[in-house]
Amino acid sequence: MQNFTIETDADGIALVTFDVPGRSMNTLSDAVIAELPDLIETLKNDGAIKGVVLCSGKASGFCAGADLGDLGRAAGSRIAPPPLSALFRRLEVLGKPVAVALEGLALGGGLELALSCHYRVAADSPKVRLGLPEVTVGLLPGAGGTQRLPRLTGVAKALPLLLEGRPLDPAKALALGVVDELVPADETVAAAKRWLREKGDPVARWDRKDYRLPGGLPYSAGGMQAFIMANATLRKRTFGNYPAPENILKCVFEGVQVPIDAGLKIETNYFLNTFATPQAKGMVRSLFLSKQALDKGDRSAKIVAPASVAVIGAGMMGAGIAYSQALKGINTILVDVSEAAAEKGKDYARKLVAGDVAKGRLSEAAGAALLDRIIATADYAKLADADLVVEAVFEDVALKHEITRRVQAVAGPGIIIGSNTSTLPITGLAQASERPENFVGIHFFSPVDKMHLVEIIRGAKTSEETVARATAYAMALGKTPIVVNDSRGFYTSRCFGTYIYEGLEMLMEGIPPALIDNAGRMTGMPRGPLELTDDVAVDLTVRIAGQTRSALGDAYQGRPYEAVLEKLVALGRSGRKVGAGFYDYPAGAPKRLWRGLADLVPAAPATLPDVAALKQRLLHRQALEAARCVDEGVIADPRAADVGAIMGWGFAPWTGGPLSCIDAIGTAAFVAQCDRLAEQHGERFTPPPGLRAMAADGRGYYAALDAA
Ligand code: NAD
Repeated sequence: MQNFTIETDADGIALVTFDVPGRSMNTLSDAVIAELPDLIETLKNDGAIKGVVLCSGKASGFCAGADLGDLGRAAGSRIAPPPLSALFRRLEVLGKPVAVALEGLALGGGLELALSCHYRVAADSPKVRLGLPEVTVGLLPGAGGTQRLPRLTGVAKALPLLLEGRPLDPAKALALGVVDELVPADETVAAAKRWLREKGDPVARWDRKDYRLPGGLPYSAGGMQAFIMANATLRKRTFGNYPAPENILKCVFEGVQVPIDAGLKIETNYFLNTFATPQAKGMVRSLFLSKQALDKGDRSAKIVAPASVAVIGAGMMGAGIAYSQALKGINTILVDVSEAAAEKGKDYARKLVAGDVAKGRLSEAAGAALLDRIIATADYAKLADADLVVEAVFEDVALKHEITRRVQAVAGPGIIIGSNTSTLPITGLAQASERPENFVGIHFFSPVDKMHLVEIIRGAKTSEETVARATAYAMALGKTPIVVNDSRGFYTSRCFGTYIYEGLEMLMEGIPPALIDNAGRMTGMPRGPLELTDDVAVDLTVRIAGQTRSALGDAYQGRPYEAVLEKLVALGRSGRKVGAGFYDYPAGAPKRLWRGLADLVPAAPATLPDVAALKQRLLHRQALEAARCVDEGVIADPRAADVGAIMGWGFAPWTGGPLSCIDAIGTAAFVAQCDRLAEQHGERFTPPPGLRAMAADGRGYYAALDAA
């Protein structure tokens, strides 16, 4: 065996160390799974072995679960991964007691393996995290997790863990009964051996005659309550878009009513069923494999990250960027119009550091060092030695041009400048630069410290080296970079805009605003289009339309809803930031739709459209814009398009992203649906020629990648 070693001591206790060679973390790769039958047979048949302790040879922990590389290949080819469930069951009925020593992570299949042992000891350490995160990538724990966890804790306590996938810390795991004992770090193996010597019971509690499900079976009063609650909460959160949590719920409901072996079979059926859904395929691919590929970036570029970066503009964005840099050890010069303004920007970092120190997440010394890395100043001379300058001043072309000239005057014409503009084309901004090849867009999202996507925009003259430097910088910040070509609104803002605009089109058809926002949420978007307009700010939406109008001249086609937005601004209803927009924001109460809106928009039609039709418009309009971006060469890599959509503007994660969504519908069917929408609603739904060609050939966006 390559991945396990067995050492048997004089007491007949076999210490099995799980240690995948050449990896920092154990995963249940195909190679590991292939060794499990041998391991189990040896433990069973070796007469010298009386009991087993399972532990890890890794400092990082026990096991992070399935190897998602293997799983991703399986998801791509739709071939189900090897059945772990039966193997784990064989360990559970070995006839010898098995204890597991958990020092760090035990997630997914790793925790399921631990749950198949008869006794669990965990280190009382912040490194310990136990959980079943499968649901977050569209999967169902298929190695006994849905059966053993509820049998251990009762249904009510198990369901949130299974349905939300959040990991437990050791104290919570003990309180719930997911582990049996907590001991200081590095003492778990000794404690596991002690249990074997003193108790060493080889029978799982659910294999005993007197076993009763904690909290009661589904048809008892208490048991029924748990399912009613979980079902309602799930529906409210997911609107039926996600097969995985629904199948988990069914699997628990059916499985706990029968003996464990039958329960495990039920689980396997639901696992396979879930695995075969387009949602699982899209989610595993985008949320895991593609994101990981983008995070690793192009290692061949060999560009080192900048050590010192100046940030010009210490407003909301600049302050967040400065903090994120200092957090990752980058020396930061934070420049604003006055020292006071720059210090105000640094206050943001001070606030976050103080919070982390108070919560014990950061030592005082580390916090002070982080803050020392930010120099707040109004003096441009201080940025002379910066490796990179990120500009985050007001969204104004003339001002941004002026900043570029001032930066080059002190740092030299060779300095790389990245603009954090959210809408202004990079090629135009680069015109003020003496070396436009050194000018690039580095588009962060708000709030910078929480949003992990960075859109890197290549202007017409930006060099590949500059793109690589900007990418290395984003990666040094721990962000996921996507590279796109210049276009109005780039990729993310452009596609995101269509969601809001389609909602506004509906408003002008007299569709009730509550229905529009509910339909938006039901598609799996985090918010409805009208509430998002309020969040983004109504006046900003008006300003962007104005800029586009002046840039495009006669080619600009205004839409009727623009007049409504202008009226809202004139009425002082610029959105959430002023406490009034499409919604009212009463203090201490939930927001509610503004009644006056009815006077600004057409009356409702006699028959309201079906909500399914509204959902389709909202999703298809965005997916179509993503397709246009591919057609126009704004974005080339479908993985970047899908990951950027989910991380950048919250595009319905269950789809795996807009291009995965089109592929799952099928390009031909999608084009036909869009043609129908174009007939009903106008040419904004007309598919671009490249997509039509793909549809005619029966090709999808991932055809080339899937074949590779
Ligand atoms: P903001 O108004 O909060 O901050 C702008 C800052 O720039 C202010 O502190 C201002 O004093 C400073 N400034 C103005 N002139 C300056 C000068 N000559 N020298 C130095 N500093 C100067 O704006 P923001 O929301 O942080 O946005 C900044 C940029 O980031 C804009 O281009 C915006 O489009 C873009 N952006 C914003 C968001 C967002 O959600 N707010 C997201 C992505 C990108």
